Amino acid sequence: MDTVRAKKHLGQHFLKDLGIARRIAETLGDTPQNVLEIGPGMGVLTQFLLANPNYDLRVIEIDTESVEYLQHNFPELEGRILSADFLKYDLQSLFGEKFSLIGNYPYNISNQILFRVFENRNRIPLVSGMFQKEVAERIAAKPGSKTYGILSVLLSAFYDIEYLFTVDEHVFNPPPKVKSAVIRLKRNNIEALPCDEALFVKTVKTGFNQRRKTMRNALKPLGLPLDEIPKNLLMARAEQLSVNDFISLTQTLEKTITL
Ligand code: SAH
Repeated sequence: MDTVRAKKHLGQHFLKDLGIARRIAETLGDTPQNVLEIGPGMGVLTQFLLANPNYDLRVIEIDTESVEYLQHNFPELEGRILSADFLKYDLQSLFGEKFSLIGNYPYNISNQILFRVFENRNRIPLVSGMFQKEVAERIAAKPGSKTYGILSVLLSAFYDIEYLFTVDEHVFNPPPKVKSAVIRLKRNNIEALPCDEALFVKTVKTGFNQRRKTMRNALKPLGLPLDEIPKNLLMARAEQLSVNDFISLTQTLEKTITL
């Protein structure tokens, strides 16, 4: 078996450029760590990860044709391939401890992967790899920018996020319609937010639901006690608010709910 036929519904765009594959693998650094690669495909990134003795590597791949390819061409991966869907896999049972996540990710499920990262933040100290450029920019965006959104707020509450470099579409087979970019997220030292975290998520999501509305209007469904909220927050739109602004909105809401 020499190659895997690219399947669109699995977001398969195989990276051809070995130099870029090496640079992506290097974003994890050299500290000893457990590493999970999502969507190894034909192993272009995997080969560099395998070559690093500091990594205890597992790969998770949904496509059985790719799994067969890997078994055939990378015998050293024996016992390390999970033939499964990352979105459904029980991550707790995986290494039994913390692990880094890497990949040239399937772009069709980027947001779902990133929400899983958020949910498993205490298990995942480091995430790096390639997304479509637009998603990478959104994740790395700061308040006040047009691309700043739900995932930017949620992830930056717990991760320091770096936009590393942009990748041209022509280094893939087949080329995707959009450019790509490599980002890295490092877990910060915040263990818990000073507010109810489920309510924080709800506040962020509701705030961005109608992103052109001011918070006064966008958060109406949550029943915010308007007179207790600083005017500058009420008149702002979600995309202008920092993580700390969302935390203080959540704290105010929490008070009314428990009253
Ligand atoms: N890393 C390879 C392939 C990238 S394409 C390369 O750089 O060439 C994205 C890969 O993710 C494909 O191999 C696809 O089969 C896999 N994939 C798609 N959805 C997945 C899921 N839910 N869980 C695990 N792997 C998935």
